[in-house]
Order: sequence, then structure tokens, then C-alpha cells
Amino acid sequence: MTPGKGAAPAKKVLAFLARAYPGARVLLDHRNPFELLVATVLAAQCTDLRVNRVTPALFLAWHGPSDLATANREEIEEAVRSTGFYRNKAKAIRELSAALVERHDGRVPRTMEELTALPGVGRKTASILLGACFGTPALPVDTHVGRVSFRIGWTASKDPARIEEDLAKAVPRERWWEFATRLGWHGRQVCIARNPRCSECGLDAACPKRGVQ
Ligand code: SF4
Repeated sequence: MTPGKGAAPAKKVLAFLARAYPGARVLLDHRNPFELLVATVLAAQCTDLRVNRVTPALFLAWHGPSDLATANREEIEEAVRSTGFYRNKAKAIRELSAALVERHDGRVPRTMEELTALPGVGRKTASILLGACFGTPALPVDTHVGRVSFRIGWTASKDPARIEEDLAKAVPRERWWEFATRLGWHGRQVCIARNPRCSECGLDAACPKRGVQ
């Protein structure tokens, strides 16, 4: 299904994103699914850049779920302190690691159901794992994807689950991941929260700019 009347046409949006952000990818550095999972925990209320400064030392000290499940909590707190909310994050990392060891033999599962059954893992994080690590079509809706989707008229909702449904109808399944990654980049770089740069945007002529003052 294509986006409704007045919305930026799907064909134009997809072509523009492919042109503007051909190399879009997840910005959290990682060498395997577990590292990306931990990085997403640390990225809550924190920039990807700051998380990337913390994770190399973290994974040098603790090599995987079995190490982190049994690590001293205060030592993890110290290692992740600069990402903010470090007590909660250290606790979450330990619980997540323990669940992976207990339920999945220390491996990150590959299905939405198993991922979202892990402590602290929501649909957005599970979608990031599926798309970035396992090549499974997935549409993670973060604040940037949600904002741009609303402005271009592809959703009337602010609820991530509903936005995901709307996007899933507008974009071919095999392009979900690249689309969401590129749209997120557009939201970070051009269609920013305050004062979006519409005059510099390749969608300027086609976009209804919903909610933009
Ligand atoms: S920057 Fe402006 S024109 Fe571009 S997508 Fe956002 S609201 Fe639309």
C-alpha cells in the first residue's frame, strides 16, 4: 500500500534516500551481535559516539555474555559510567548476559520473539539486531524515523508500533532495513527535530511537511 493523499510519494522518497545515504548503517560500533546488543543498552539517553568510546574497553575486559553475567557489578558501572544512568545500565547488561547464558547457551537469538523475551529488549532493539546482524527484514522505529515518517505524511501516529505498521505497508519488505537506516540518517542530518532544513532537503518539493512550523 502506498502512503495516502498528500503524503510524499513512496517512489520519490525511496529514490531520494538511496541517492542521499547509500552507505547508511548502524552507528554503534560492534564486532558481533552481542556487542551490538550491549551497545544498544548503553545508547539509551546517550549519543552513539560516546557509547563507541566506552565499548572497546568494556569488551576488552569482558569477552562475552558469560563474562558479563558474572562480572562485579561495580566494575561494570565504572566501565560504563560516562554513558549516564550507569547503575541501571550495568544491571541491565548483567541481566541480559545471564539470560543469554541460561536460555540460549550464550548466543544472541535470531527471532523477534526470542529477542523481545530477553530482559530489557524491546521491539526497536530487536529490529536493530535482526537487520544489522542477521539480514532479516526489520523496521526499527526510533525518534528520528518516527519524526520524519510523520512529517512526510506516511503516518499520523506517534506510537512506534503503529508507525512500524504504516511503514511496513509503504515499503517493500526486502527494503525495510535499508529504508529505516537511511530515514534515520536523514532525521539526524537534515530533518532534525527543531528547525528542519527543508530548503536543503531533496524532498522539499514533494514533502507535505506535516507539523513543521
Ligand atoms: S527536512 Fe523538511 S522537506 Fe525534508 S523531509 Fe523533513 S520536513 Fe520534509
